[in-house]
Amino acid sequence: MWRGWRDVLGRLGFASAALDAKLLTGHALGLSTLELATRENEPVDEVAAGRVAELLQRRMSGESVARIIAEREFYGLAFRLNEATLEPRPDTELLVDLALGFLPAGGRVLDLGTGSGCIPIAILANQPAATAVAVDLSARALEAAQENAALHGMSERIALQQGDWFEPLSSERFDLIVSNPPYITSAIVETLEPEVKDFDPRLALDGGPDGLAPYVIICAESVRFLKPAGWLLVEIGFDQGAAVSALMLQAGFEEVTVHRDLNGLDRVVAA
Ligand code: GLN
Repeated sequence: MWRGWRDVLGRLGFASAALDAKLLTGHALGLSTLELATRENEPVDEVAAGRVAELLQRRMSGESVARIIAEREFYGLAFRLNEATLEPRPDTELLVDLALGFLPAGGRVLDLGTGSGCIPIAILANQPAATAVAVDLSARALEAAQENAALHGMSERIALQQGDWFEPLSSERFDLIVSNPPYITSAIVETLEPEVKDFDPRLALDGGPDGLAPYVIICAESVRFLKPAGWLLVEIGFDQGAAVSALMLQAGFEEVTVHRDLNGLDRVVAA
């Protein structure tokens, strides 16, 4: 039931043709990968075959499997996605690793531009007493974050706030501020692969003419929202380490360090 689609995708040059065909067929038919394997030779009725074909057509138009099934794994947890959330990337797991090292037991976390909520949920899943506030400009993204918080039993531990960066917050101070803001230069967004350019939300990608606009706000304002020994951790593009470090030093932060991801690229700045 999926092999024919594997061959079609393979001929079109999809590197993960077999996996994509299996996942999408399983999703359309409501079957797990195991069920798919054991029922492989059973006939599929026309309506079900139509559902499979529809999902495969979307894949062929360049949409990712995660977008089509509206779910992606991050830090070993499943996250629901919608059109307003960036697809969580494995690169961002470094931000969670570092956050877990900096957060004191029972600490309070602020995540700016939370999207699906994957960053604070992954942190809290590994720090049982911690709590978080997660902010996003998009009400629709917050719907996904709320669904994910509930899915992982964290509705009581994460407060979701709609607004522009720090705007919805009170005078509370946090132990840790984290963010994976939009940081791609506006002109470069247009040149990204279709899977990103056409399907990830622009609001989560476009960091303005120099890609640094969100960091200017985040670095300057974070000081007022952190406890004296608090930490700020932001994801960056591979070539933004020096510029973002400078913004942090300018804002009065100390101990600014740049951390590399598994590909050896600068990915997170901590201060
Ligand atoms: N890392 C993402 C990408 O390169 C960008 C995410 C972002 O701008 N925060 O597709």
